[in-house]
Amino acid sequence: MRLRYPCVEIDINKIRKNTRYLVDYCGNKGIEVMGITKGVCALTEVVNAMVEGGIKKLGDSRLQNIAVLRESGFMGLIYLIRIPMLSEIRDLVNLADGSFNSEVDAVKMLSQEASTIGKVHKVILMVDVGDLREGIMPEDVLNVVGQIINLPGIVLEGLGTNVGCYGGVLASYENTKILVDLAVEIEDRYGIKLKTLSGGNTAALTLLEKSELASGINQFRIGEGIILGTDATNFRKVPGTCQNTMKLKTEAIEVKVKPSYPIGEIGRDAFGNIPMHKDEGPIKRAIVALGKQDCRIEGLTPVDKSMKILGASSDHLLINVTKCPIKVGDIIEFDMTYGAMLSLMTSKYVNKIVID
Ligand SMILES: *Cc1c(COP(=O)(O)O)cnc(C)c1O
Repeated sequence: MRLRYPCVEIDINKIRKNTRYLVDYCGNKGIEVMGITKGVCALTEVVNAMVEGGIKKLGDSRLQNIAVLRESGFMGLIYLIRIPMLSEIRDLVNLADGSFNSEVDAVKMLSQEASTIGKVHKVILMVDVGDLREGIMPEDVLNVVGQIINLPGIVLEGLGTNVGCYGGVLASYENTKILVDLAVEIEDRYGIKLKTLSGGNTAALTLLEKSELASGINQFRIGEGIILGTDATNFRKVPGTCQNTMKLKTEAIEVKVKPSYPIGEIGRDAFGNIPMHKDEGPIKRAIVALGKQDCRIEGLTPVDKSMKILGASSDHLLINVTKCPIKVGDIIEFDMTYGAMLSLMTSKYVNKIVID
């Protein structure tokens, strides 16, 4: 069975260029870029484009993706960037070179598993500087370091932090400075050198542009900025990168003029919501073969600006095409946000096509 639509068409040449641009831009300011591959489920062609663009370290939040990265033949270091489940630590030590952590119990287990197989696993401790997702609260960091510093089988490579993704907190001089100050304290207290201060994700690029990054930060973990050239947290395009790296193509399975207001008593839709419809009289409606099972629909924008998305159910996406010469069988294209891309790349019902 070889179904062609829906498909995501990925222009890996643009992704290669975005990578090259961001690796150079950050590199010139003393920041190494860890390429984050979760957004494309570690799709090999995209990963290769990142590597050709100059990425030397890769990170992903899922061990399944890290297994794919290993099989791609990548020779550099690979990190798990989501703090690990205790139940995955044995596999983690086998598959990855390092990981981001915030729990002493997890680091102790990493130590044990790594020692058993004669490996040294790199640990970056996550510090919560205010976004309130993962991380050790700053006042507890010195104590945690004391508990793990002498464990065998691990090395404390550095500190990391993440903002923007949950609490929506913006990266700032103040919150990156917390990391740098803690590193200095740790180095003084324990007489060690921390190699890596991983200061943020795509959203932290604004700090470099405004020269507001605390000096001492030497790594960013970048996914969205490379893959889509966008920065969802700051709601902007990343300067110097190309957008439109990916396009969603769907096929119209019904095109008919129908009323814009449903006929009959209105209950709830398939997802339990009460639908709101505006009566605009008869409109030409297209259904394309794609639905909420495949995609976070709110993140789609029709390339043809005269089309308007009306809504979706599990398998049907409805579009007002009154102003377009669309007929059944035609292909309708969409741009996507990071959220829509995540869902599309993860759906097995959506083809991924790479163009170069
Ligand atoms: C997803 C993720 C990133 C990458 O974020 P982008 O916004 O895609 O650059 C970095 N760090 C962590 C911990 C993440 O989970």
